[in-house]
Amino acid sequence: MAEFANIIVDISLEKLDRTFQYRIPERLQDVLAPGMQVRIPFGSRGVTGYVIELTDTAEFDLSRIREIKSIVPNSVAIEGQMIALAAWMRKNYGGTMNHALKTVLPVKAKRRAVEQKTVRLALSDVEAKNQLGEYQRKHNVARARLLEALLLERELEWHVVTHKLNVSGSVVKALEEAGIVQTLSKRSYRNPVAHLEKKEYRLTLNDAQRQVVDTVMADYDRQIYRTYLLKGVTGSGKTEVYMELIARVIAQGRQAIVLIPEIALTYQTVMRFYNRFGEKVSIINSKLSAGEKFDQFERAKAGGLSVVIGPRSALFVPFPNLGLIIIDEEHETSYKSENTPRYHARETAVERARMAHASVVLGSATPSMEASYRAKAGEYRLLTLDKRVGERQLPVCEVVDLRDEMRAGNRSIISRRLATLMEERLLKGQQTMLFINRRGIAGFVSCRACGHVIKCPHCDVSLSQHAGGRMMCHYCGYEEPEHAVCPSCGSRYIGGFRAGTEKIEMMVKSRFPSARVLRMDVDTTRKKDSYEEILSAFANQEADILVGTQMIVKGHDFPHVTLVGILAADMSLHVSDYHAAERTFQLLTQAAGRAGRGQEPGEVVIQTYDPKHYSIVTACGQDYEAFYQQEIAYRKMMSYPPVWNMLVICCAASKEQTAADGALQLADVVRAFGEAAGGLYLIGPADASIAKIKDLYRKVIYIKHEKYQILVMIKDKLEQYIRAHGLFETITVQFDFNPMNIG
Ligand code: ADP
Ligand code: ZN
Ligand code: ZN
Repeated sequence: MAEFANIIVDISLEKLDRTFQYRIPERLQDVLAPGMQVRIPFGSRGVTGYVIELTDTAEFDLSRIREIKSIVPNSVAIEGQMIALAAWMRKNYGGTMNHALKTVLPVKAKRRAVEQKTVRLALSDVEAKNQLGEYQRKHNVARARLLEALLLERELEWHVVTHKLNVSGSVVKALEEAGIVQTLSKRSYRNPVAHLEKKEYRLTLNDAQRQVVDTVMADYDRQIYRTYLLKGVTGSGKTEVYMELIARVIAQGRQAIVLIPEIALTYQTVMRFYNRFGEKVSIINSKLSAGEKFDQFERAKAGGLSVVIGPRSALFVPFPNLGLIIIDEEHETSYKSENTPRYHARETAVERARMAHASVVLGSATPSMEASYRAKAGEYRLLTLDKRVGERQLPVCEVVDLRDEMRAGNRSIISRRLATLMEERLLKGQQTMLFINRRGIAGFVSCRACGHVIKCPHCDVSLSQHAGGRMMCHYCGYEEPEHAVCPSCGSRYIGGFRAGTEKIEMMVKSRFPSARVLRMDVDTTRKKDSYEEILSAFANQEADILVGTQMIVKGHDFPHVTLVGILAADMSLHVSDYHAAERTFQLLTQAAGRAGRGQEPGEVVIQTYDPKHYSIVTACGQDYEAFYQQEIAYRKMMSYPPVWNMLVICCAASKEQTAADGALQLADVVRAFGEAAGGLYLIGPADASIAKIKDLYRKVIYIKHEKYQILVMIKDKLEQYIRAHGLFETITVQFDFNPMNIG
């Protein structure tokens, strides 16, 4: 029972770290909790504030700490709920309360952004060209200049029009009155879908989809709010299911949040939601400024929105009566935050839903091990859609052994079989996607003749290549010298795999000179909108072949793609991370799912050096269950999540010795705790996989225990220790529970 409460007086004051400490009167000691609104004396006045956290440590002279007067009755303010959620996040993921609050409460911008105006063409291209001709005949130079520019750009910023093009405001006004252009202020711009043309919505769910909706709603209508795992193959109509559920929930006056990985937040997806829900939908993405985000949150709080779609952070939209949270592509790693607190959106969504009495639907074609494990344990309810909509078949898949290609003298990255199938597609005017698995390209070493990968003898993860010819394990620190020949077959073709998308694009172009090739990777998508542009060019059949990284496996439907080639399927298998097989299975299944989404059936070719690996065999057979069984057995054997739980502690300091000493001290604390608690594994300290970032040396400790709460206790203990010994002055310590990426 805590003696004091830290209280924030006004959260709109953008001073989240400005808390005041009050004494908790005895009568409130059993009931007071973070998030509650309380009345307190403040100067000579009485005000209300929110309880941020409870503590036993007095921060001031005891005589100066005043007492809380009372709890505000029936205070259901959404802020309270969000603060309670922040407290939960702090507890379960570590970091300070201030970190957690800044994550859930968007801070109001100091100054409103200047109103930004744009000028947009209101005519079709043909009409605009006619109009342009007329202006040119009449020598209306300013008007012609504006129209010419708008024909190229469609929408121009106001200052570009008035300063660069030298078109005056009165000319723009005249054109606006004639219905030729439209001026928009940034405000209307803020709703990113407002200007789109809405289509009539009609689509009837099929039996399987209806069954899923009915199951969730039967619980919901009886006020049973739980978490569902919707496992539906690609193209099985999950998005339609989400939209139907949302429609039912908002018909009852409640609101819904839809989480989508940022990369899948494409025009196509947004349009589907807009067509159904119109102005009630809003989008949040990482391009919004803090002020814009704040505005969206205010609109949501005031009841101006019913549905918000966005990445991870959209989870914190302060809907006053949230009824449903959907997490699409639930297995995506982007749902885990990389910053303190390193929360996972899935677990945090479940907690938020618990507080709000809302349901959660997690959707995926390839659920995470975590979600499946919980579904099997009965914690989540499993729902399935195992057929594609409209009798469409899942693609036919085959595996090509790249070692055979090598033996047959084919050194190209494209196997003979894949080349033949690509040739066929070109003749038929169908499209091909070539997917190069670049995940985890960093570091590992393998043999191109036999496929052997150099691994740690203790941890069963691949060793990473380091400067100076060393091979290292990032879990335990084991190292050995680099190999000149393959230890398994003696071949000299051993080394790191380095074939970028650009090189592959060139190879494809020279192999198929008549083909039109597009490439998509971080380099070609750096510019704003270029991601959309490449995808829509491909969707419009302006190219025959699309070469890309994992970026191309998400989102878009390409009905003319009938062949998917996966170039180096086992690349992602050898990352030094226990998720490697899971990521590989997911990537291959998602990539294969891109084929045959239209009328024509699809084919998939998986090229690999490791054709017998279970993640490749099961992905080829589209057999999730078989994959799960093998993978969970491995996790069980190695005591990895989700069977056990893992906490990674990263110590960073500007001097290597300081980081190492700090890590050793913390490891001792953990060890002492472990001896008392029992059942604890401690590995390390060792160098992090990136041993130095921005001049900070990083050491990591891995702890495994069956129970998550034991790890939380260890984190608490370490935070206490760090505070008591003033360690934070020299090292930065970060906690990561059940990490998505190791190291
Ligand atoms: P998923 O999200 O599982 O990949 P989608 O919801 O995107 O699946 O559905 C795949 C395609 O099938 C989409 O083009 C969608 O419009 C269409 N579709 C989904 N449900 C139906 C239905 N009941 N009737 C007709 N078409 C549907
Ligand atoms: Zn070999
Ligand atoms: Zn090791």
